[in-house]
Amino acid sequence: MHFETEAIRTQTDRSQFQEHSVPVYLTSSYVFEDAEEMRASFAEERQRNIYSRFTNPNTSEFVEKVCKMEGAEAGQAFATGMSAVFSTFAALLDSGDHVLSARSVFGSTHSLFTKYFPKWQINTTYFKVDEVANIEGLIQPNTKVIYAETPTNPGVDVLDLAFLGKVAKKHDLLLIVDNCFATPYLQQPIKFGADLVIHSATKLIDGQGRVLGGITVGRADLIREIYLFSRNTGPALSPFNAWVLSKSLETLAVRVDRHCENALRLATFLASHDSVNWVRYPFLPSHPQYDIAKKQMLKGGNVISFEVEGGLEAGRRFLDAIGLCSLSANLGDTRTIITHPASTTHSKLTEKERLEVGITEGLIRVSVGLEHLNDVIKDIDQALKS
Ligand SMILES: *Cc1c(COP(=O)(O)O)cnc(C)c1O
Repeated sequence: MHFETEAIRTQTDRSQFQEHSVPVYLTSSYVFEDAEEMRASFAEERQRNIYSRFTNPNTSEFVEKVCKMEGAEAGQAFATGMSAVFSTFAALLDSGDHVLSARSVFGSTHSLFTKYFPKWQINTTYFKVDEVANIEGLIQPNTKVIYAETPTNPGVDVLDLAFLGKVAKKHDLLLIVDNCFATPYLQQPIKFGADLVIHSATKLIDGQGRVLGGITVGRADLIREIYLFSRNTGPALSPFNAWVLSKSLETLAVRVDRHCENALRLATFLASHDSVNWVRYPFLPSHPQYDIAKKQMLKGGNVISFEVEGGLEAGRRFLDAIGLCSLSANLGDTRTIITHPASTTHSKLTEKERLEVGITEGLIRVSVGLEHLNDVIKDIDQALKS
């Protein structure tokens, strides 16, 4: 079946009430008929729910849908995107392993690599987007994983997934991709050789700014380890949030279509604005990796970055003049959200570190929402003019 149909028609078995829409299974545990059923369930001879830290019908439904969308064998849901990232690494890495990662990663992922993993003798080497062609030279005998986000946050750079997949395969490394910005609708990294795909479901998968959630999908043998780690350490997705996210998947394609249409129009508008130095959007022909974006993404996504003329001060003045759009740290919401990374999310980096990931003082990130785009353009235009 097609993507939209799978998103809507994949569901758990109906209960005795024959509900059309899947109910929320708010139960912490499940009952057994007798001693033998209980024994067989714990021995995993029988696949069934035992305790909601392990599995729950709502989380299983959410996982099954994302697996179909990503073309994955199996998956594990988590309470947040970060618990998905952490648990994936914690389940698969040993002390002494080495990670080769793109430099532009989500802030908390950067903290895992630099602040926490070294405690367990797990070290990370970063490569910049323009160094990607040379990554084979960065592989060490103890390298286990290549890790990347694409498009990146907040610079909206695009990394060549087919190339990363080839390098990973050649050197017998795992390729793990954070696919949060693209969603499973726009990009399926497994097709290009990824072993695992991670999402913060908090962003476009929920898409309405309501719940936190995360998921890792991919090779069944790896997911088995991640499942056992999660089952024992407890970062389980709540059944209620799983229900919300599973419902959200039913509208993912139509929402993301409109997000992308709005974003491309806004990017085109900004590109011709006098107060804007440059605009980055994967589906603008001026984007440095436009050809790669076209090859691996269905559409350009909903995040744009651009630079206002006048640096840090102009960036702050622009934010202060914004009326309709929200100043918020989230992204992938129905509401258009504007951030100024240099003074907020990336303020703890030095200016040199910020420039390494392409964050100039005047860089503005826009997560384009689903409002009528003319209203968004009007707000951004008046703020730029001020
Ligand atoms: C937000 C985000 C995360 C973390 O997700 P949470 O749900 O906030 O824990 C990870 N990766 C990327 C790319 C993100 O944007």
